[in-house]
Amino acid sequence: MPTSPSRPPYRIGLAANRAHQDAADSALVQLLSMARKAIDFLQPEFVVVGRTLDAMRSHLLLEDYADIERFPYGREGGLMMLVSRVVDPDPARSLDAVIYLMDPVDPSSTFPEALALKRQCVIHGKPFLSTLAGAREWFEFEAIAAGAAPDASLDGSFRLEGEAIALIAHDAMKASMLQLAERHFALLDRFGMRCATGTTGGLLNGLAQRIKGEEAGRDWVRPFRSGPLGGDAQIAELILRRQCRRVLFLEDPHVARQHEADIQLLERAARTVGDYASCSSDVKSVDRWLSLMARRALPSVD
Ligand code: PGA
Repeated sequence: MPTSPSRPPYRIGLAANRAHQDAADSALVQLLSMARKAIDFLQPEFVVVGRTLDAMRSHLLLEDYADIERFPYGREGGLMMLVSRVVDPDPARSLDAVIYLMDPVDPSSTFPEALALKRQCVIHGKPFLSTLAGAREWFEFEAIAAGAAPDASLDGSFRLEGEAIALIAHDAMKASMLQLAERHFALLDRFGMRCATGTTGGLLNGLAQRIKGEEAGRDWVRPFRSGPLGGDAQIAELILRRQCRRVLFLEDPHVARQHEADIQLLERAARTVGDYASCSSDVKSVDRWLSLMARRALPSVD
C-alpha cells in the first residue's frame, strides 16, 4: 500500500446489491473496468463483501490484484462488519471510503446495516458512494489528486456550463453550507444551473448577492420548496429526468427528521439513475469533492 504523503493509503469497503453484480454490464463490472487505471494508480486496499467478491471473480475483475480482504456474505453479516470498520479508530483496520452500489428496489438496500453504513460514513466524514457515477468520479478525483492524468472519457460531465448542481443543508448544517459555498464560490458559479431547497436557497442567494452584487446574485440559485414541504421531491424529479446529476446534501445525522421519507426519496432518485447521478452528504467529503472538482473542471486551478 502506498504511504507517501501525495498518495494517501486508502482502504475501501466494497459491496453491491445483486442487480449491480451479475450482468456483463452491471454497475460493478462497469466501475471496476472503467476505474481500473485509477485503481492501479492509487493501489487501495479493498475489503469486499462475499457475494460481491464472488461476482468479481466470475467476471475476472481485479483477479491479479493483491490487496483484497474478503468479508462474509451479507446474510452472514458482511455489511454489518463494514459498518464496524467505518467507525474503527485503528488506522490499520478502518475504512477510508465505502462503495455500496445500491439497487433501490432490492429490499436489502433498506436493511438496518445498509442505513447504518451510510449514517456512520456521514458521522465520521468518510465518502459513502452508492452510485456508479459517484464512485467513478471519486476514483477519477482521487487519482488526479495523487498525480494521475485525467480520464478524457469523462470530460463531457465536467463541462460545467451544461451541468446543474443541487445544494441542500439541514438546519444544523446551514452555516457549513454557506462556508463551503463561499470558499468554492468560483466553482459553483460556473455551473449552468444551481438549485436548492427553499431555506438553503434563500441563504445561498443572500451570499451570492454579497459576493456578486445585489442584482447579479439575486437568482444565483433556484430555490424549490423548503425540504419539509417537498423541495427534496422537486429536486428528485430533476435527477430522474437527468437534468441534475450532482447533489451536495449536508445532512444532520443526529436529529430525528420529520421529513425523513423525503430525504430517502432524494437519495433513492440518485440511485435509480445511478449511472448518472451522485449524492454527497458530509462536510468533509463535500469540501474535498469541491476542491478536486475545481482541479478537474477548471484547468487553471491547481
Ligand atoms: P430547507 O430544506 O433548505 O428548506 O431548510 C432542507 C431540508 O431540511 O431538507
